[in-house]
Amino acid sequence: MSYSLKNKVALVTGASKGIGAAIAKHLGAAGASVVVNYSSSRTAADRVVNEITSAGGKAIAVQADVSKPDEVVRLLAETKAAYGKLDVLVNNAGVYEFGALEEITVDHFQRQFGLNVLGLLLTTKEAVALFPAEGGRVINISSAITRLNPPHTAVYTATKGAVDSISRVLAKELGPRKIRVNAINPGLVETEGTHTASIIGSDMATGVIAQTPLGRIGQPDDIAKAVVFIASDEGGWITGEVINVSGGA
Ligand code: NAP
Repeated sequence: MSYSLKNKVALVTGASKGIGAAIAKHLGAAGASVVVNYSSSRTAADRVVNEITSAGGKAIAVQADVSKPDEVVRLLAETKAAYGKLDVLVNNAGVYEFGALEEITVDHFQRQFGLNVLGLLLTTKEAVALFPAEGGRVINISSAITRLNPPHTAVYTATKGAVDSISRVLAKELGPRKIRVNAINPGLVETEGTHTASIIGSDMATGVIAQTPLGRIGQPDDIAKAVVFIASDEGGWITGEVINVSGGA
């Protein structure tokens, strides 16, 4: 079965690279009109848009730093101007920085909580106002790290723990408006971000693979396929869930 998002409008934050780019492409291939949000990588975002449109889909790129309230307002205004409504929000933009307790600083905390938690809340607030009366879907990209709780990740893991809780709370709060809210929690995935952070190929990655029943790390497409299912009508009875997509790790 292939899932259809025909006549739906989807916004994916942080969609110029990695997991977000794959989600945008899969939503576009399923028939959604896609807003490809990015913060600084214009060329990469244009490439994602071109891939969607050259396959017959609809997409636009919109720059906005989603940790900044005024930029979030502009992002949703541009979404409305382009497509008139919004049906699916994927809160994917996020940063990860690891460090031991003694390395935690105010900046390290604020950078991660400012985007991963505050940015997600601000974007959801503005997005929900654009959802039609028939409802909508919010999919928060959390992390399987909230199940693993490894050392040296207190701040990042805490941001994603907050995302899990926010997903469960908002599922209850927004359910009466037919808005479903779920978290998708990837295990380690090979992306631009995990390459830049030198995680791919590290001892940590080797350890993750050893503890993963399916014996490999994830690829962005592995996550995107789960997002399309949750966004589609076939996922219509699923809300308030935290779903690990991590090869069993
Ligand atoms: P990535 O390769 O580093 O890409 C990050 C994306 O987010 C880029 O498109 C970037 O756009 C965008 N972005 C960064 N700051 C932004 C901001 N302030 N406003 C809007 N967009 C912003 O990341 P990834 O590895 O794909 O991770 C994506 C999400 O999955 C994150 O929430 C991460 O925590 C989560 N996750 C990742 C893994 C993993 O192993 N990769 C595992 C579990 C969960 P610009 O380049 O334009 O700034």
